Amino acid sequence: MEQYAGVIVDVRADAVNRIFQYRIPAPFKDKIEIGHRVLVPFGRRKLEGYVVELSSELEVEEGKLKDLADLLDPEPIILPSLVELARWMGETYVGLFSEALQYMLPPAFRYGKERVGAKTAQTVTLLVQNPSLRKNAVAQQRIVKILQQEPRLLASDLVKRAKASHAALRALEEQGVIALETSILERKVEWDEIPDPKFTLTAEQEAAVEIIQQELQGRRRPVLLHGVTGSGKTEVYLNVIADVIKKGRQAIVLVPEIALTPQTVNRFAARFGERISVLHSGLSLGERFDQWWKTYHGEVDVVIGARSAVFAPTRKLGLIVLDEEHETTYKQEEGSIRYHTRDVAVKRCELAGGQVVLGSATPALESYHRALKGSYILAELTERVEARPLPGVRVVDMRVQFEQGNRSIFSTELKEALGKLAATCNQAIILLNRRGFSRFVLCRECGEVLGCPNCQVSLTYHQEDDRLHCHYCLHREALPKSCPKCASRFLRQFGVGTEQVQETLTREFPELKSIRLDADTTRRKGAHAAILRRFAQGQAQVLVGTQMVAKGFDFPNVTLVGVLSADLSLNFPDIRSPERTFQLLTQVAGRSGRGEKEGEVIIQSYDPAHFAVRAAQNHDYLEFYRKEIGFRRQLGYPPFRQLTRILCSGPRQAAETAARGIHAYLLSQGFPGQDLFGPAPAPIGKIQGRYRWQIVLKSNDSPSTILRQLPAVEDQVLVTIDIDPLYML
Ligand code: ADP
Ligand code: ZN
Ligand code: ZN
Repeated sequence: MEQYAGVIVDVRADAVNRIFQYRIPAPFKDKIEIGHRVLVPFGRRKLEGYVVELSSELEVEEGKLKDLADLLDPEPIILPSLVELARWMGETYVGLFSEALQYMLPPAFRYGKERVGAKTAQTVTLLVQNPSLRKNAVAQQRIVKILQQEPRLLASDLVKRAKASHAALRALEEQGVIALETSILERKVEWDEIPDPKFTLTAEQEAAVEIIQQELQGRRRPVLLHGVTGSGKTEVYLNVIADVIKKGRQAIVLVPEIALTPQTVNRFAARFGERISVLHSGLSLGERFDQWWKTYHGEVDVVIGARSAVFAPTRKLGLIVLDEEHETTYKQEEGSIRYHTRDVAVKRCELAGGQVVLGSATPALESYHRALKGSYILAELTERVEARPLPGVRVVDMRVQFEQGNRSIFSTELKEALGKLAATCNQAIILLNRRGFSRFVLCRECGEVLGCPNCQVSLTYHQEDDRLHCHYCLHREALPKSCPKCASRFLRQFGVGTEQVQETLTREFPELKSIRLDADTTRRKGAHAAILRRFAQGQAQVLVGTQMVAKGFDFPNVTLVGVLSADLSLNFPDIRSPERTFQLLTQVAGRSGRGEKEGEVIIQSYDPAHFAVRAAQNHDYLEFYRKEIGFRRQLGYPPFRQLTRILCSGPRQAAETAARGIHAYLLSQGFPGQDLFGPAPAPIGKIQGRYRWQIVLKSNDSPSTILRQLPAVEDQVLVTIDIDPLYML
């Protein structure tokens, strides 16, 4: 039966976001497969595209059907299951199919400027040591001469050095003198060699491994591994993966940010040796290209990487692990497809066969909710390894400190603890929680934060109009002169930087050597790892930093963790603020007392009675979960209802008009007005000269069909749709 190829053209535009059918001409019959890169006639041009369907049903008028122009690679470059995943992503996130396909391609093939990289990754190998070449083929002779010295080179370097053209290379290839390959020269990705400690699993670890294996062999529902900090989650992953490999399958391990997790990478390298691939943003294009092809050719058992590694071309996928699954870096915040890695991983395993394991000490509310409902399976590690206790947590009320005349950023409790630390060789971590930094207004006397009368969020001070704004319902008010609760005049925008913390620390405790980890000190490539290594080697006694210091580090010498301004993030204008705060506090507290020495934690707070602070103090995830899920249910927030944000950006008038048009359309589609917020300027009303207007929609089911048909807007306006956004700035 005649087969027709359904093709998505490689163009980033709404107008071509559908499948075009082509006839498969004789030379390509039986060769074309799903995932092949092809060239197709399109209007008067020829465009690259990807075969996403093969069908015997003709959907074009016979006379209008055109032939595929060319087949660009011998093998399909996208695995069929990844083509299906891309289709699902396009539909689910209301984005472009072609854009979803970009995630599935080797790095140098992606649309935009990266494409130039494709050539540089081609390597040349000399096959015949002394070939007989035509006398007048001087360029070819120069090439061979160079290769006789160095038998394997990058094609781009070689043509430059030989002052030859790519045609000369191809001629040599045809004569069988050289082999042209896409990258064999392997640029090694670095990790530290550490010994592999082969632990005997604790009973809880054993039980968790068993639960995962049972699912793996059975219904393959995602497993949520909820394990307290220091309970040995990594060891559970390592064990399950070893088993997956033994069965001839591959694993993908996702970490929030690879630069911040060198220790995790080292542990995987120690266990699985050379057959791992590490993907991170610090790699050059060529290196990423190498890693991609190694995976494509089945030369690796374990792929470790951040978010986008979920698309690694593993043909025999057995397992996907999301470590620290609650982290916000798992959400893609750019482009037309704003996916969440967790949901993509689950879908990928559904399509390709495989098991998802989500691990965290502080699971996302959504995940825990699903685990309680039974769509995920729960595995728990309730204790630290070797029965080490969780650190004791003290919460210091900063209002009392203020009353007692302490104007320092360090409470008396923290000062005392730091003083004691100086007499030992133990280490400390000090976290300055900077999220929401100087954006909200706080009363220094009673701790009151000015909030919106209609929503459960704090108001944000806007300098432009000297007013307080609510980013959810658009309430605005003047900045009061005194605290509405206690009438104090000490209303302050709170603001200290990590640099100031370090200065104060050095002034008050000159004997404590400190090191800083924040956006400033880690700008340089490799700086993260270098700072962490220095701290691990004991070159500094105190690590001072932002959120970064709360990641999954394992420093056995840390016995003190101090948190300055615990509640800053509570006042961030965001429905997820309490969750983020609880996660941050629990995670950073979890860095203390991981070794043989007992640890302690001091949390400084203006709102010590807040349930998120309380629950973190008690190491009680369930206490937090029950409270917060109640609020979410009451307010109709995720996971109970879906939030969709539609953002229109462009020239001032055009952006507003677009938002108003979309709003009217949504009303006409039967969305009740109370479920539609806006149209209104986004919290950050202008970015890079573009004005931003938004509409936020609450719905019970996914409204993707309706969102697909949004009314047309002016050309200069960009409309982005974000399903269950993590931020709405
Ligand atoms: P988590 O990710 O749950 O916070 P880790 O996986 O980092 O915890 O493990 C914490 C520490 O315990 C690590 O130093 C790890 O090497 C060690 N560890 C893990 N499993 C065991 C075990 N069964 N026995 C002894 N130590 C273990
Ligand atoms: Zn007050
Ligand atoms: Zn409001």
